[in-house]
Amino acid sequence: MKASGEKHYRWRGIKASYVAKHQYARKHYRKSECENCGSIKYLQMANVSRRYLRDKLDWKTLCSRCHFYFDKQNERNNFYIKPGSTGQRGVYYHKASGYFYSRIMINNQLIQLGNYKDLDTAAMVRLAAEEELISLKEELANVRV
Ligand SMILES: [Zn+2]
Repeated sequence: MKASGEKHYRWRGIKASYVAKHQYARKHYRKSECENCGSIKYLQMANVSRRYLRDKLDWKTLCSRCHFYFDKQNERNNFYIKPGSTGQRGVYYHKASGYFYSRIMINNQLIQLGNYKDLDTAAMVRLAAEEELISLKEELANVRV
């Protein structure tokens, strides 16, 4: 059994390396528009091999919407919330309040990401959470192997 201090240290190291790799990719490989649809808004760095290589071919600049579909194609998402009436995964419309609720499942735990007056904002919050949490979850899963 390992000391919790070591675990904590390792977890922080993983998170730091994930952030560092994304920052490096953003700085060196980021293009001024989405490589799929040409959008210049909500650009993110998508990783192709999931190995986060220091290779421009391993990174794509995608807007958050294209990034979402790119990841879906890559079967990166192993957690899933049934689509609600909004058509945006993880976003639900609450008729009584008039708000859109954004949420995500991580390790069988439902995490509330907040409620928003407009669907786009709720969807963007959900996509940003996916970008951050899917990759972190994968990194943590890889460590155990
Ligand atoms: Zn796009």
